[in-house]
This record gives sequence, structure tokens and C-alpha cells, in this order.
Amino acid sequence: MRPSTKTVDEATGRYLPIIYAEELPFWEGAKKRTLQLQRCNQCEKPWYPIGPTCPHCFSTDFRWDVMSGKGFVHAKVVYHKAWTKWFEDKVPYAVVQVQLAEGPRLTSNVLECNVRDVRIGMPVEVTYQDITEEITLVQFRPDSGALAK
Ligand code: ZN
Repeated sequence: MRPSTKTVDEATGRYLPIIYAEELPFWEGAKKRTLQLQRCNQCEKPWYPIGPTCPHCFSTDFRWDVMSGKGFVHAKVVYHKAWTKWFEDKVPYAVVQVQLAEGPRLTSNVLECNVRDVRIGMPVEVTYQDITEEITLVQFRPDSGALAK
């Protein structure tokens, strides 16, 4: 995988994430169905968004570590307006912030769930969505194991 500044898939009109060099382990992990974030070698805390410095202790000594993929919906917003043609058959859809069991929060979507059923506090687990041959998104779905408790 290589860094990419391509922002739109011409074939579908879908917006694409810009892939920065320092993020490659995250994107390569997603492609392999693992959620990897940076974890500090000094204070042992993981963090997100991706960056060169631990936001907890300011160390630059880190490793990439596989997260559990478990978390809950911390916040959500529902879009009813299609801002581009690609979204016309997608609205309404929810954009959520998921707080992982390990602490970091990721902005994502909840798949396999009706938009009306996405609730703050609902348990979710990671899933993956291939959107191009190179790019796989980290997404979430209801955590049926947690709901069964
Ligand atoms: Zn740290």
C-alpha cells in the first residue's frame, strides 16, 4: 500500500480517505481485518487520531498494537441531506464516534443496523468495508454478543 491524495473514486463518485505515510499501518491493518492503533511504549496508552506524539505523555516512542475492536457509540449525527450525488441513495445515514474499550474514539459508521436503531451507548464491534481494491474502511456493527447479556 502507498500513500494517496486521491479524494474521489472516479468510477463511483465516492469520497476516499487521504492516506498519509504515517498512517500506513492503520490502513494495511484494516485491509487484513485488524484494527491497529499506536500504543505508547512509555505510558502504554493507545491513541487516535494517528500522530507522531503520545497525547498522554508526549513520548514519541510507540508501537502499532491490535485493538479489541469492541466499544460503544459515544456520539452520533444523522445526515438527511445528500451533499453529493453518491449519497443520494444513502440518506438518511448515521455518522458515529465510537469509543473503543481501550479508550480512543474513532469517527465511523454503524453497518448492519437501521439508522433509526443507532443509539448512543449501544455496544458495537469492528467490521471492515472494502471500498476500493486498496482501501478498506474501519466500520462498526452492533455487538450481538454484548447485547445478549
Ligand atoms: Zn504515552
